[in-house]
Amino acid sequence: MTECNPFDSSSDEEESNNTDSEVYARVSEICWSQCHFMNIIGIQCSDICLDFLNCCSRHRCSYICDGSQCKNVVSCRHKWYCVEHGQMCRCQYVSDEQQCQNTIYYHIYATGSTFCIQHKCCVVECHQKIGLNDRHLCFNHYKQLYFCEYINDHGGKCINIIDNPFVEVFSPSQMSGDIKCKMNKFCQTHVCKVYGCYKCIRNDQTLWCDKHSLPCQYQLDGQQCSCFYHNSVQYKNRYCDKHQCHWNPSGYDDERCLDAISLGDESNDYCEKHYKQFIFTKYEYYS
Ligand SMILES: [Zn+2]
Ligand SMILES: [Zn+2]
Ligand SMILES: [Zn+2]
Ligand SMILES: [Zn+2]
Ligand SMILES: [Zn+2]
Ligand SMILES: [Zn+2]
Ligand SMILES: [Zn+2]
Ligand SMILES: [Zn+2]
Repeated sequence: MTECNPFDSSSDEEESNNTDSEVYARVSEICWSQCHFMNIIGIQCSDICLDFLNCCSRHRCSYICDGSQCKNVVSCRHKWYCVEHGQMCRCQYVSDEQQCQNTIYYHIYATGSTFCIQHKCCVVECHQKIGLNDRHLCFNHYKQLYFCEYINDHGGKCINIIDNPFVEVFSPSQMSGDIKCKMNKFCQTHVCKVYGCYKCIRNDQTLWCDKHSLPCQYQLDGQQCSCFYHNSVQYKNRYCDKHQCHWNPSGYDDERCLDAISLGDESNDYCEKHYKQFIFTKYEYYS
């Protein structure tokens, strides 16, 4: 039952019977009726309402015009709105010649949005419809994104977005100390891992650009390894991670043994000298 009790009106009528006809006429104007809303299978809402409204509070059109709420009953085709305002507040998105059936909450519609939440650009203040992209962005916001330009050996183009398309480059030789900006064209995965280098990696298996990587010198049966190693100024290695001896008691990269793993024995991770040491320490004591 609603806040309006229909039985109250009968007592009003009784009272009015005792007064003059003028008052009776006025009181009888305040009568109650059933909400006029009909659902999609024709069943009428059972709530009672003041008949100058025709509808209960749930089924009153939510559109606000000149500061007051529309008095019409909502249409089951336009949730929250009467037929007239449902057309206005209906999402304007059209796909396959079908207009979207969703209506837009008045408070969102009032901000200028004519597209429902499914069809609106996900940039909060943007009211444009989504474009043909998988990022829920309008054409213009999508165009503003920067995509990684890396293309792998099989011609596959990276589809990642670059989070930092503009990077600051500082050159110590510039005494003025002014910081210059340059374009970064590659995503986190495909940018060279040398700090401050914004070139792309050599290939999917290498973490560094052409300048910062060199081919591994390891050879087995006349075949040279196809991997690359980090070409660093301080660190004079010649082999990829797999083929460089793994002896490194200190754990610091620049203290790792620079020799290749012992030739002919792919099963060990150490150069000849360190393999002996490794085996010796392994069996040094009963654990
Ligand atoms: Zn109702
Ligand atoms: Zn309305
Ligand atoms: Zn829509
Ligand atoms: Zn947008
Ligand atoms: Zn990429
Ligand atoms: Zn590099
Ligand atoms: Zn190698
Ligand atoms: Zn070694």
